[in-house]
Amino acid sequence: MRDIICPDLQTCLINEADKEFRRVFKTGIYAVMEGPRFESAAEIRMLQDMHVDICGQTMMPEAALARAIGAHYASLYLISNFAEGINPDWKHEIHDIYEETAPKIGLVMIRAIAAIDPEKITCGCMHNYVHVNVGEHNNK
Ligand SMILES: [Zn+2]
Repeated sequence: MRDIICPDLQTCLINEADKEFRRVFKTGIYAVMEGPRFESAAEIRMLQDMHVDICGQTMMPEAALARAIGAHYASLYLISNFAEGINPDWKHEIHDIYEETAPKIGLVMIRAIAAIDPEKITCGCMHNYVHVNVGEHNNK
């Protein structure tokens, strides 16, 4: 799939995230890994060889489903660990990071939603929907 992130919603999220966080990565390659578990060291090395920037267990299938119905989709990902077991110096507990950042994430989300101006949306996400003619299939 290409262009699964709505550029209009992404702009709203980036603008608000820049106000609250020290570093915001605006582009990158995200690998979706099946959970619920952290990736193995071998999987992380494979992803590094594939030039993946971050990996996680979200984005799919919700991004694909949003595209299938022509909905706008964007997301905000918090980097919560540096590849389990790869960096022995990583001392942050994931739950502590989520607890510390939850108020900021909530604020960014609410402000980003408030910043969406339906009159200025130019993305064309609504034209990406997957057309399925169920009636034709059932009549055969
Ligand atoms: Zn859109």
